[in-house]
Amino acid sequence: MRWSINLGSIAGTSVRIHLTFVLFLLWIGVSQYRLEGAAAAWDTLAFISLLFFCVVLHEFGHILMARRFGIKTSDVTLFPIGGIANMARIPEKPSQELLVAIAGPTVNLAIAAGLLVALGSTITAEDLVQLDIAGSSLVMRLAAANLILMGFNLIPAFPMDGGRVLRALLAMRMRYTDATRTAATIGQGFAFILGFLGFISNPVLIFIAIFIYIAAGAEADAVSIRDIAHDLTVEDAMITSIVAIPENARIGDAVEHLLNTAMTDFPVVDQSGRPSGIVTRGAIVAALKEHGETFPVINMMGAADAVIREKHNLSKALDVFGTTLSPVLIVTNDAGEVTGLLSRAAINDVAMIRSLRPNWDFHHHTLRDNHRTRAVTPDGIWQFGQRR
Ligand code: ZN
Repeated sequence: MRWSINLGSIAGTSVRIHLTFVLFLLWIGVSQYRLEGAAAAWDTLAFISLLFFCVVLHEFGHILMARRFGIKTSDVTLFPIGGIANMARIPEKPSQELLVAIAGPTVNLAIAAGLLVALGSTITAEDLVQLDIAGSSLVMRLAAANLILMGFNLIPAFPMDGGRVLRALLAMRMRYTDATRTAATIGQGFAFILGFLGFISNPVLIFIAIFIYIAAGAEADAVSIRDIAHDLTVEDAMITSIVAIPENARIGDAVEHLLNTAMTDFPVVDQSGRPSGIVTRGAIVAALKEHGETFPVINMMGAADAVIREKHNLSKALDVFGTTLSPVLIVTNDAGEVTGLLSRAAINDVAMIRSLRPNWDFHHHTLRDNHRTRAVTPDGIWQFGQRR
């Protein structure tokens, strides 16, 4: 995650703190200092830091439970809105997803219970309401905040843990995609209720409601695209009519292709047709502005790190898209030669056609291997297409 500071590593997962979170702490500290003085500012900062330590523990509840099912988590990043654990994948078995989702809020319950036992006191509904009123002890406020965190995370809506719990419970009875769609609809219903409550009480709830509404829709879309992708290969969705730019091309050549084709991202290939880089529309325009049309493409191309084999499963392509900023993936054959490009838009098109015509033959055999053409023009441009 960019703009984040690495605090160290726990059990193979690095703990990061996003710069916006540091700014958030500074802002809270300064505004509290100006309102009520140094003592109050330190008290608030101590409270928030301890609270976010609890958020980290909450995330490690998820992370360690996921590890039991063989899922690694490379990092967890703290944002002002909470922690985000970067898990390699979400468990597919509903029972496992249920345990992973519930592990986080369970940690908050355990912390609250532990603090209350240590204090030897009980908590009342009134304490929860008066959370931000100074006077109650730091420990007491921390216990109350953990209970609120638990309750908030159990709201049955994505991206809250409660949404995943709901999906897992539904998925035990129905298909995973249907379970996600149902959970997302229920979540959006909750978003409406929350938004309404926001209008009559706290406006912050309106923002949370909008966030939940969008996240629920995105989760449902992502899962249905995955569902569509699982029995297709990269070859079924890739764009085969493309041009590739040779390594010795100049920016002027790239500009010509930008004008003559519908493409915005061009693979750069070596003499044998293997990918050596990629140039995007933005890079071409910037290079033209700064260096002129005779500047060599090879000096400004991006690394060809987003490459996928055409025989790979389309879900693998979705995984690669999740780890790269590149808008397109370069597709290669078994020999490692460029044969096409894969964009998110192309995957969305396949998903759209499949929802209209579930039996559509995406393995369009006429466009396969021996029907594809590849030619190098006199000025060295690689042209890919298909024979009709
Ligand atoms: Zn959680």
